[in-house]
Amino acid sequence: MSKVLCQVIGCGPAAMGLPVAADRVGELSRFLNEGVRFLDRAPDAAALNRLRFPFLIDANSVGGDFIAGVRRDGVFARAVDARAGSLLQEHHDRPVPLSLVGEFMNDLSRTVEEALPGGFLYAADTRAIHRGADGSWTSTDRAGAPLVTSESVVLATGSYEDTGRIAARYGIVPSRLIGSAELLAGRLDEAERVLRGGGRITIIGGSHSGFATAELLLARFGDTIAHGGLTLIHRGLSLAYTDLTETEELPPGAACRLEACPESGMVNRFHGLRAGPRGLCLRTLRGHEHRLILCETGSVAARAALAYADLVVHSAGYRTRQVPLYDQWGERIPMSEGTTAVDDRCRVLDSDLRVVPGVFGLGLGYARTDVWGRRRVGVNTFHGEDAEQVLSEVLAPATV
Ligand SMILES: Cc1cc2nc3c(=O)[nH]c(=O)nc-3n(C[C@H](O)[C@H](O)[C@H](O)COP(=O)(O)OP(=O)(O)OC[C@H]3O[C@@H](n4cnc5c(N)ncnc54)[C@H](O)[C@@H]3O)c2cc1C
Repeated sequence: MSKVLCQVIGCGPAAMGLPVAADRVGELSRFLNEGVRFLDRAPDAAALNRLRFPFLIDANSVGGDFIAGVRRDGVFARAVDARAGSLLQEHHDRPVPLSLVGEFMNDLSRTVEEALPGGFLYAADTRAIHRGADGSWTSTDRAGAPLVTSESVVLATGSYEDTGRIAARYGIVPSRLIGSAELLAGRLDEAERVLRGGGRITIIGGSHSGFATAELLLARFGDTIAHGGLTLIHRGLSLAYTDLTETEELPPGAACRLEACPESGMVNRFHGLRAGPRGLCLRTLRGHEHRLILCETGSVAARAALAYADLVVHSAGYRTRQVPLYDQWGERIPMSEGTTAVDDRCRVLDSDLRVVPGVFGLGLGYARTDVWGRRRVGVNTFHGEDAEQVLSEVLAPATV
C-alpha cells in the first residue's frame, strides 16, 4: 500500500476545516493533490450528509461564525453563494437554524469531494491506528485490514454523550435517560408520552443544549406541561451580552460568570446563552416561566428532581469518540479518559500529556484554552486557527 501525506479520520463539520483553511492560505491544490485521504464510517455521501447538524433548534453561534473562515473568491465560492451560504451571510449577526448550517457544511463537503482525486473513502470504520517502524501511521478496519498508511493522521471523529455512564453515576434506570443530541435531532416520542401523561422531565446541563431542550419541549408540548413539569439542573448560568454595561440589570443568579472578550468586547462570547435559550433563562429567573424550575447541581432540589423524574435528558457534555492508537512495538498508547486532549498546536497528547508524533485532533469535543484562558470550541475555531495550525504541521515536512 502506498503512503500518503495525511489521512483524516471522520468527515464531519470539523474535518471540513482543513480544506477550508488550505483554500484560505492558498495551499488547497497542494493539500489535496499531494496525498490526503478522508475516511468516514458512513456508508455513503447521503448518510454522511444526514449526520451534519440534524437538529431542530437554532445555533448558539451567529450565521457569520460558520462562514467566517471561508475564502469568498476561492474554490468554495459556489457554496458561499448557494442558498444556505447566502442565508448565513444575510443572518451574519444572528443565530441561525442548525439545519441551515448542516446544509452549508454539506455544500462545503461536496466541493471538497469534487476537488479530491478519488473522493472520500466511505464505510471506512476505523477501529485502530498503528505506528510503523518508519513513523508512518496505518488505519485498520474492524477485521484488522489496513485502510490507509500516511505520514500524519488527523483525528476528527467527533464526540458523543455517554448516557450509560451518566445513568450509572446518578443511579438512573438507562431507559429513563436520553441524550440531548438525540432528543434535539427529533426523538421526541418518549418526552411527549411523559409530558402528555402529566409526568416530569429533568434536564442535566445549563448550557445552550440544555436550555434549547427546555425551549423545544415548551414549544411542542407546553400546553400539557404543569407548573414545575420541567427542571433544569446547572452548575452556574452564563448569558451572552453585547458588552459589560448590559450586565448591570441582571436578575439574581444570572451573573455568576462574566468573561469579556478582548477582541470583540462581547461578554461570554463563546459559552454564553443567546437568543431563545437566553430569553427562556431570563424569563425563568424573573419568575415569568413557572413550568421550568432551575436548580444548582448537588442541591437537595436537584437530587429530588433526578429521583422523581419520569425522564432525564442528559445535556452536560461530550466524550471523544476515541480510536485506539498503537505504537511501533504494538503497545496501545494510553489516552486520557473521556476527552482526548490536544496541545496549542492541535497535536494529540497521551495520558501523560506527551505529544503523540504525527497525530492531530480537530473537534473531538475538546475545548482548547486560548491565551486569555477562554475555552474555545465551535465550527469557527475548527475552521479557523485550529485547522490552520494542523495544516501547517501536516504540510511542513514537504516544504523542508
Ligand atoms: C445540539 C448542538 C448544537 C450545537 N450548536 C453549535 C453552534 O451553534 N455552533 C457551533 O460552532 N457548534 C455547535 N455545536 C457543536 C457542533 O456540532 C460540533 O462542533 C460539530 O458538529 C462537531 O463536528 P465534528 O466533525 O467534530 O464531529 P461529528 O459531527 O460527530 O463528525 C464526526 C464524523 O466522524 C465519523 N466517525 C466517527 N468515528 C469514526 C471512525 N471510527 N471511523 C471513521 N469515521 C468515524 C462520523 O461518521 C462523523 O461523520 C452544536 C452541537 C450540538 C450537539
